[in-house]
Amino acid sequence: MKKPNAEERKRMCTRKRRYRTQGDALDAAVLVGVAGKRTAYQCPLCKQWHLASG
Ligand SMILES: [Zn+2]
Repeated sequence: MKKPNAEERKRMCTRKRRYRTQGDALDAAVLVGVAGKRTAYQCPLCKQWHLASG
């Protein structure tokens, strides 16, 4: 497994929904019924929050 390069990381970021805060991200997880299965993390690229998948 090679590490994702900058271009791939950027794509991973732009494909994901962004949230302004950790709370917003976790609220969204509740809404789609995945609370407790997903964690939110702050993205180093866009400085906003994404839900981690898997
Ligand atoms: Zn991002």
